[in-house]
Amino acid sequence: MSDNLDLDKELAVGFLIDKLNQLGNKKLQKRLHKLLKKGPIGRKMEPEVGEFNTFMLANTRYNNSDFNDEESRKSIENSLSTLYQEYVKQSAKLLRSRTKRNRSELESHKILANFLTSIPKCPANPGKLITKENQKMIEYVEKSLLHIIERSWIIFWAFKQKGEDRIKVQGKIFHRKYDVDTSSSALHTFDELLILNFARPFLKALDQLLQDTNNRVNNIEDAFNGSDKIEIINPNLCSEAFGILSGDLVGGIDALRTIIRQIARIAEIQGSAKEEIEILNGFGEDIRKTVNNGKNLLELKSNFEKLIETLQNLQVSIRHLAKQAIEGKIEINLEYFHSAIIELPIQLREMKIWADRFMDIAFLSPESGRGIWTLSKEKDKLSQEFDQDIIIKACELHKTYRPSTSTVYALRGTNLEVRRGEFLAVLGPSGSGKTTLINMMAGLDIPDRGEVFLWGKRISSMSDNDLSDLRRTKIGFVFQSYLLDPRLTVYENVALPAKMARKTERLNERITKLLESLGLADYADQDPTKLSGGQMQRVIIGRSCVNDPLIVFADEPTGDLDSETGRQVLSYFRKLCDEKGIAFVVVTHDQEMSSFADRIVQMKDGLIIGE
Ligand code: ADP
Ligand code: MG
Repeated sequence: MSDNLDLDKELAVGFLIDKLNQLGNKKLQKRLHKLLKKGPIGRKMEPEVGEFNTFMLANTRYNNSDFNDEESRKSIENSLSTLYQEYVKQSAKLLRSRTKRNRSELESHKILANFLTSIPKCPANPGKLITKENQKMIEYVEKSLLHIIERSWIIFWAFKQKGEDRIKVQGKIFHRKYDVDTSSSALHTFDELLILNFARPFLKALDQLLQDTNNRVNNIEDAFNGSDKIEIINPNLCSEAFGILSGDLVGGIDALRTIIRQIARIAEIQGSAKEEIEILNGFGEDIRKTVNNGKNLLELKSNFEKLIETLQNLQVSIRHLAKQAIEGKIEINLEYFHSAIIELPIQLREMKIWADRFMDIAFLSPESGRGIWTLSKEKDKLSQEFDQDIIIKACELHKTYRPSTSTVYALRGTNLEVRRGEFLAVLGPSGSGKTTLINMMAGLDIPDRGEVFLWGKRISSMSDNDLSDLRRTKIGFVFQSYLLDPRLTVYENVALPAKMARKTERLNERITKLLESLGLADYADQDPTKLSGGQMQRVIIGRSCVNDPLIVFADEPTGDLDSETGRQVLSYFRKLCDEKGIAFVVVTHDQEMSSFADRIVQMKDGLIIGE
């Protein structure tokens, strides 16, 4: 399929694809293909159907004479609509199985119920209350999500004679002048329209979520600020219950961050899709309010940000309360306390379900136009000639994680190459896939699809032994989790990788020089854990470079440092890069980094979006 649809002659139907429903997506593609193949007047058509990152698209080139009558158009539209409804039903089923409670939730609800039972004036059967509350939440969430899926499709028709496109969104028809020459890609139009189409119920649901959570949090705050003294009969049960609450809070806050990111993306798409919004204004007042008026989106975003703060305060209160409870002197408002303990975890779980589902439904990425066609044969982009200057090359890396209730698309066809001796900075917000990418490039993790080449050799074709040999001798790591050994001196810590790789030739000289370069000459015999944060990080850098590797990967090496110290540490990377010709790939979400690097790439939603 060409990148530009020639809408003058085409029917196109697009919908946001549900990443959760991979099998369903495949079937749907096949059936769409079959449906559109029939053609309106018995003429065989050659439709193209495929899946992009955000949406599925089917299109067919008709002759204008094929559609003289409204009837044949209607019949195609009806068939498409029926097909889509079936797909929605299937998704609903899947959704239900996903939102079902899992074992660990059942377990934690049991603990909370037992805890409630153990304190005075307990409501009758708290376990039942929790189950009921949970059921109510699930029903509501399922209904809203289904509503969103139902809305997630669009039909495009184009008529040459009128010089105009007819765009059908949710059964309503809009006309739009569409100039294939000036519009960069019709696929982007699809993408943006679909997302905006989906944005309305999405934002409405989020608004409701915000209100509900705020109301509940108010109740909870009242519950924790009372003067009723309760006696803790079972401190273990109590500490477990509070542990569950704080764990849920952590998860809830994380979910809120995801939700905020998605809102920001919609705002971004909205900014780049002015024309599309004009079409959507046909939807009426409500969509204009939610989508066209940027203030609303930003307001929603900032309200969610405030909610994070509130929940963080709540975390502190809960910690405080838990401590008091264990010591046996807890003061609360009993009347609200019971319902708070029942409502809080369920509310937080709802947030998680929303966050997960928005990752499943679409990436909401304005970049998604450059997605992949799953039905077309994938070109072998991998059989390129090996360029001696390229140390490591990542080709079309895909990685999907499936934690219990959702699908996370960490990498979505990422490409990156690192050249000899270059200082490459990988920037991007948290969660954009930076760590996943460098783990794959360093051979620490395996991609679902795509290849990593080390000096032109596929990592996947190497034996484990070869790979770990390479890793030990040619690749250095400065990862957050690679701590220094407190039982060894600074010198010994730096020497460790050399000993492990049996590269002990002129070791003393190498290390002395390295420590000098890193400004650590006076600290060789010290306990590394007594050093400052910046100094420790320099020891770790020394350790990563001791074998004179070709490349060093550093994952957020300045994450725990203040900005001044961070800059200092980066300047040492720069120095080693210049002195030793080691290539550095430094991952950070710190913009400041850029002044040290030879080249900067930006990551977003699992893709490199620019240099
Ligand atoms: P970054 O380093 O840019 O912050 P990551 O590569 O760590 O991003 O993560 C990208 C996405 O993949 C995130 O949404 C993250 O939650 C998810 N992810 C990473 N590792 C796992 C894992 N082991 N299980 C589930 N999800 C994961
Ligand atoms: Mg990371």
